[in-house]
Amino acid sequence: MPESAPHRTSTTERGSFCLARCDCGWTGMARRARSQARTDAERHAAVAHDSPDAAPGRPVE
Ligand SMILES: [Zn+2]
Repeated sequence: MPESAPHRTSTTERGSFCLARCDCGWTGMARRARSQARTDAERHAAVAHDSPDAAPGRPVE
């Protein structure tokens, strides 16, 4: 993992929801299942790795 692309993701709980977060400032949607939030995080990291020039916070399709 190159340190120039710090897309380190984690999940955090907010009330009864769980959402994914990334060191780049991206935040995923609130999910009822932590497994879903993890999927969001993995998807974000994959897209970010694919498109290093994409601006942080850009909506993910
Ligand atoms: Zn990121």
